[in-house]
Amino acid sequence: MSTTIAPVVQGALDHFTASPTPFHNCANLIATLGSDWVKLSENEKWEGKIQPNGKYYYTRNTSTIVAFCVGGAYTASNPGGFKVIGGHTDSPNLRIKPCSKNGTSAGKITQLNVECYGGGLWHTWFDRDLSIAGRVIVSTPDGKFTQHLVNLKKPVCRVPSLCIHLQSGEERASFKVNKENHLQPIFAQVVKDTLESPAKDEDGKKNAWREGHDTTLLKLIADDMGIAVTQIADFELALYDTQPAALGGANEEFLYSARLDNQGTCYTSIQSLKQYAENTAVLEKDADIAMVCLFDHEEVGSASQCGAGSPIMGEAVRRVSSALNNGGGNEDFFQTTLRRSFVFSVDMAHAVHPNYASKHEKNHSPELNAGVVIKTNSNQRYTTNAFTGFVIREIGRRKNVPIQEFVVRNDCPCGSTIGPIISEKTGIRCVDAGMAQLSMHSCREMMGTHDIQLCIDLFNGFFELFRAIDESCYECS
Ligand SMILES: [Zn+2]
Repeated sequence: MSTTIAPVVQGALDHFTASPTPFHNCANLIATLGSDWVKLSENEKWEGKIQPNGKYYYTRNTSTIVAFCVGGAYTASNPGGFKVIGGHTDSPNLRIKPCSKNGTSAGKITQLNVECYGGGLWHTWFDRDLSIAGRVIVSTPDGKFTQHLVNLKKPVCRVPSLCIHLQSGEERASFKVNKENHLQPIFAQVVKDTLESPAKDEDGKKNAWREGHDTTLLKLIADDMGIAVTQIADFELALYDTQPAALGGANEEFLYSARLDNQGTCYTSIQSLKQYAENTAVLEKDADIAMVCLFDHEEVGSASQCGAGSPIMGEAVRRVSSALNNGGGNEDFFQTTLRRSFVFSVDMAHAVHPNYASKHEKNHSPELNAGVVIKTNSNQRYTTNAFTGFVIREIGRRKNVPIQEFVVRNDCPCGSTIGPIISEKTGIRCVDAGMAQLSMHSCREMMGTHDIQLCIDLFNGFFELFRAIDESCYECS
């Protein structure tokens, strides 16, 4: 019998299911914040727009989001720092190439040309009911262009396995995915393409980009959006598994979904920021800025205009503090603000796998449903040090959130995340942590249901307690 699902867990399931791409992820996070959060544009001046006790957000490329609330006690003579929770909005997936038309293959089958994004466990994409989602640039009758999200929701694609009977024992034993040849999804079976060529634009000029795509694909997208095929000016589309997120395990103690890395942090951090901003009694006395920065492109190294390797983090600190000081603030002021700031970088973490327990060092084997994991690597693949790790452990101790430790085995390569990149670019103090999960980078991952609330509790504690803890050990960092 199913137990009652806590609203925060149901919210997580709904968010994961409704967010097949970073664009949908950001749009749904903005909807979670609510209409009373003020949208800022990076293209316009912020001076005069940001006030103490205010709540704001902006996006870059619509796939990276920065949201923050300003403490009521922030003044020019008592400027606080930035308490930042960092994460990433992207996940490995298959993306439709700029020329997706693959012609008709054997069996009169139409396939799509796809590109591997990030380091996916690609064998897990076989035999899934896949759909297509992303953003579309749409031309409007008045000669302008707008961006819209699309999500077909129907399982229009599939990457079928080769049946066991057509493989030799040797082939089966050495199953290896060729990323170019074996992952092109089957899309349709059309004997004759009866659709009108969409190559020409409204003005009668040839559109070479549109010629590179299968007419059926363009028609599906246009029909779903209620526009003409000729209005599709460009798109960025990805494949995703249509199976919704679900609770599992005998006691619903596990949560199964795609993209837990890193939508787990996206969901929990925005929930926490929203709760913090709504707690007016606490916000009123805060001299800091509580912020959440969720970056695109972490899975491919963060080096992009909206990744953690871009200037966006440092710019957020400078622009917000400058706007709060009526456009003022000299270099000394900004450097002081940067030094008073702290980034709590939370990605997902590797839980110990019962079938591969030897992959973990026994003293550093995180478990599901056992609290947030602090990641340490003295070779600086993670930024955690004695001070930044202590801050989070102390918050966990005071808020009764268990903290686990992870260090990779010496004979195993170590992953990395946004912490070292942000620290390198900005000099801001940083800690790397995560929620424990299994099957990281699989098409379908799993984590502990109870870790959702534990993570939110720790984030709330971070916004609430960071400044006092930081000031109590002023000389440590
Ligand atoms: Zn990640």
